[in-house]
This record gives sequence, C-alpha cells and structure tokens, in this order.
Amino acid sequence: MGTKGSSMPSTPDIYDPFDSLRRKNFSDDEYENCFRYFDFQKQGFWTREDFCRFLNALFSNEKRKPYPILSEQIDQYFHETDFNQDKIIDFNEFLQAWKKPIKCAVRPVSALVIVDVQNDFISGSLALHSCPANHEGEEVVPIINQVIRNVNFDVIAYTYDWHPSNHISFYENRHLRKISSKSRVSAAAARVHDKVIFAGSSNLTDTIEQILWPAHCVQNTPGADLHRDLIRIQNAVHVYKGTNPELDSYSAFWDNMKLSKTSLDDQLKERFVTDVYVVGLATDVCVASTATHAVENNYRTVLIEDACRGVSEHAIEVKRIELNQIGCIFVHSDVVPAMVTGEDRRPEIARAIFVENLKTIGRHRPR
Ligand SMILES: [Zn+2]
Repeated sequence: MGTKGSSMPSTPDIYDPFDSLRRKNFSDDEYENCFRYFDFQKQGFWTREDFCRFLNALFSNEKRKPYPILSEQIDQYFHETDFNQDKIIDFNEFLQAWKKPIKCAVRPVSALVIVDVQNDFISGSLALHSCPANHEGEEVVPIINQVIRNVNFDVIAYTYDWHPSNHISFYENRHLRKISSKSRVSAAAARVHDKVIFAGSSNLTDTIEQILWPAHCVQNTPGADLHRDLIRIQNAVHVYKGTNPELDSYSAFWDNMKLSKTSLDDQLKERFVTDVYVVGLATDVCVASTATHAVENNYRTVLIEDACRGVSEHAIEVKRIELNQIGCIFVHSDVVPAMVTGEDRRPEIARAIFVENLKTIGRHRPR
C-alpha cells in the first residue's frame, strides 16, 4: 500500500468546498462552515436552490464538474433531509442526514479486493480463454499491478478459490453425490458447464443447484497459486473460499447458499472500510458475486472493469445491469486514484449509505 497522499491527483486551481473536511477532522465546526458556504443568502437555512448547489458540489469529479442528478432525485433527497417538512433545511437536519454520507464521500476508506487471480483460471483447467468469451485472464495482472502501485488503498485483499479434491463443483466428481429427481440433467448425461441439482448430501439443504466446472484450484496445488507476476502486498488480507466440499462459493463474502460467511466482511469492518473496489476473475461469476455481496454488506462498491475478465459476454452484460441497479458502478482503472482520495465523488454509490444512515437515526420515511 502506498504512502497516503503520495499520488494524490493535484487540482490546485479548482476550489472544492469539501476540501477542508476532506483534509481535516470531521468536527461539527467544519460541517458548519460547509453549511454556511452553501447558504447563499446568509439566512441560516438552505432553500431548495442551496441544497441543489450542495448536491452538485458533493457529487462532482476532481475537476469539480457535477455528475448529473435527476430533478426527482434532488426532490427526494430534499424531502428526506427536511425532517420537519418546512421546505427549508436547517443545520441540524443537514448534520444528521449528511454527516456520515459526506464523510464516506470525501474521505472514503477503500479496499481493493483481488478476486481469484489464480493459475487455473488463467492457464490451467478452467482457463478463461477456453470459455465462451475467449478472454485472456492473464491480461488483468499488469492492470491490477498498476492499480496497486498507483492507488493508495487502505486495505488490499486477495481471494482464493480453494477447494478440497472431492468438491461438489468438479465435473469429475459428479458421480460422488446423489442427483435430485428435480435435476434436468443426470450425472451420466451431464457435460462441463451444465447445471445439475444434487439431492442435499448433508443436513445443510434439501437440494443444491450446481454448475459443473472442470476440477480447479485444488488446495495447495500450483493451479491454486496466484499468478506469479501479481504483486503481493505485505499485511494484506487473504480469504479462502469454497473450502467446504459440499458448497460452492463464488463470492468472497458468502458461499452460494449463504450458509456460511468468510472472514472478509469482519476483516474489512475491523479496518473501517467504506468502499470496496473489485477486480479479478471471472467478471460474471466470482467478481460479480463478490460485488453483489459487498453492496449487501453496505459497502459503496465499484467494479474496475478493465481489471476483470469473464466467462461469457452475455452473462457479463446481465451482471452489469443487475449490479448497476443495486448501486454498484463499473469504472475504468484510470479514474480510481481520484475516487479513492475523495476528489471524484459518484452519486450512484452514495445513495445506499444515505438511506442506511436515515434508518439508523430513525428518520427514514419511504414515500
Ligand atoms: Zn471454484
């Protein structure tokens, strides 16, 4: 992890009204200065126009160009911030509704989660270049390395698909478990990439839907190693998933049945992480699942698109739409440094934290 501040993009000529909050402590005095700045008529409260200027300044890029926000969204934010419905925003309403969302936006605590950049997905038994999209998994390595070098992440996590040899996801193991009568495909007829339904082989669940993959990432084999050129950071978080022979785990947070959690969420929460950047393999499988659960665990979540490769172009598009709908954005690695320093502030990833905060303070009023 780089030295905080060493690669801070410099935009000295452009005034950011959140700059002193970004650089100093988050005292109520600093918030009061911020409130006064947008109170154009110095009336001691904000009109809808003042509020609009505030949103445009908060959600803007490092050149202070505002991101577009729909008029209905501004209305909704205004309605939600105006607790007593008097059509103006006072300092207390602003502070309660926006203290936490502003802090997350201007000084996020960011984690890079590097998903499954392992040999088997690059050159081994489940190499992406043999999958429908014909992607080259290896291409993510220099891009992820550049992101590690150029961006001051607070936390870096490496995840590993880490299966025992009798794992349920392996095509080679399809005869080891009873197939449910609900399965459209029998063990004998099944082919690689087919979805089968196993009868619950333990007391965990009734049935388990499983896509059959070639045996891959077997614990302590070279195929499960990270690509040799991927930069290893000291003091990183390491997360092993798919370790239960009866459960597959695409996400680095939960297994596919959501029966057991990995240590990732606890390790990120211990480090006060607010923002999760996901990269790695494969976009439409483990990367997308990890991003989905990052959103569900209340992280502002960003997928760095050029640092991912996937299995199927169609599935990647489906996942992109699903993830965008829940507030996860796809970005190019070029924009990540300014996002991590809190200078480039995206509205899409801010909404969930705002609502979550309203719920916490008992001010959430769904329309
Ligand atoms: Zn696997």
